[in-house]
Amino acid sequence: METKVRVRFAPSPTGPLHIGGVRTALFNFLFAKKHGGDFVLRIEDTDQNRYVEGAEDYIVESLNWCGIPFDEGPGKERENGPYRQSERKAVYRKYAEKLVENGYAYYAFDTAETLDFHRKDHEAKGKTFIYNWHNRLKLKNSLSLSKEEVEQLIQNGDEYVIRFKSPENETILLNDLVRGEITIDTSILDDKVLFKSDGMPTYHLANIVDDHLMEITHVIRGEEWLPSLALHYMLYRSFGWEAPIFAHLPLILKPSGKGKLSKRDGDALGFPVFPLEWRDPKNGDIAKGFREEGYLPEALINFLAFLGWNPGTEQEIFSIDELVEAFSFDKVNKAGSRFDPDKVKWFNHHYIQNSTDVQLAKILQSSRAELKEMDPQYIELVAGLVKERANLTSDLWDLTRYFFKAPRDYDETAIKKAIKDDTATILSKVRDIVVHLHEFTKDNIESQVKEWIKTEGLGFGKVMMPLRVALVGSLQGIDVFEIMFLIGKNESVSRIEKLIQSI
Ligand code: GLU
Repeated sequence: METKVRVRFAPSPTGPLHIGGVRTALFNFLFAKKHGGDFVLRIEDTDQNRYVEGAEDYIVESLNWCGIPFDEGPGKERENGPYRQSERKAVYRKYAEKLVENGYAYYAFDTAETLDFHRKDHEAKGKTFIYNWHNRLKLKNSLSLSKEEVEQLIQNGDEYVIRFKSPENETILLNDLVRGEITIDTSILDDKVLFKSDGMPTYHLANIVDDHLMEITHVIRGEEWLPSLALHYMLYRSFGWEAPIFAHLPLILKPSGKGKLSKRDGDALGFPVFPLEWRDPKNGDIAKGFREEGYLPEALINFLAFLGWNPGTEQEIFSIDELVEAFSFDKVNKAGSRFDPDKVKWFNHHYIQNSTDVQLAKILQSSRAELKEMDPQYIELVAGLVKERANLTSDLWDLTRYFFKAPRDYDETAIKKAIKDDTATILSKVRDIVVHLHEFTKDNIESQVKEWIKTEGLGFGKVMMPLRVALVGSLQGIDVFEIMFLIGKNESVSRIEKLIQSI
């Protein structure tokens, strides 16, 4: 029987999930679904100092909003749980000890001061301090001390960590689905800490042990983890476990293409880099989210899929099911991909056009308290009329507000352009025409007003511009006669009068 594909997304709850994390989750989801496998969420919260309140809920909500839910994880327990590393604490020590017993790891008693001294000393000489084969026998650990000395130190309650004993002079052959074969000379690696003096495992140990216990078949993660791959391979080998297959996804670059995309780029250039809005629990700072800014999850997902992957055809619009169908690692690039804020808007515009009026009306109605009691059919109608102009769902209110409310004030440039000495007289006449209309239909309003303009020999703009300003508050909006028909006779008259009075 073929083994079932099992992948995991393993974020640390240190803050809001960056868009790069969502991309990693997406590629895991696509790969799992393509192969009928499981998508596991594991929360890597072994670093207590970096734990941020609310971050886990944020991750879960983000995945759900994006439409890439996990099959197994916190709150969706199966036999491989628990899924928070802090709840698996008891598991890790015995694995670290096992490595020590078998000669793959050792206890190290060097104090923070000693290590700091070596670091600074090296720095002063323009070198980097690396704790490994070339100096480990000169440092304070179970390789340099006798068995008795080690026992004594442990009995005394001296703090120690467990370090991996990186082999000297070995070439390790690594395999990656995106990068192919990579060789690493182990001589350059340091003896990474696997288990800390506070009784917690480090990322490396917990990650490998959990991937093994959770029966993960493919590890799909960001390129920033590539430097850890050699250690991870060696850990699997030391435990005598089969390593999963690895795929390291390319970096997401700034819009300029220079360097990794960061939160600051979003702030500086005015686009979100997080799926949902995030309020920093420490200082209350708000970071923008795609959801709140008016993006549809389908658009964000379609956009993210193309950050590092392409179908090899001209097709750009993909539903999530189509992405699952088309996804494969041989179409994932090695090179970083540039984050293009215009492109995500382009996708969003497309998905808004493809949304039904009912869907858009729901979004619009739920976004504004004043629309709560409004007739949903009216909202659907006006949403449908303006949607081709919307790049963001948050544009919908600006594009439709005049269907619901009289303008409170008027756009200054529009007033300058539209209001002349005779405007009040002209608008009064239009009002009279409207008041006397028996059948208040768009066609009727239009033909009556236009006929009058013609007989008076007036310029079209002289009438239509102020009329638009009266109805909309600016020179924006759909066809003036259509607006009048939709808001009704009384409202049209009252808006015209209001502008006359304010002239
Ligand atoms: N906890 C790591 C992170 O925050 C997981 C990396 C991995 O997937 O191995 O990204």
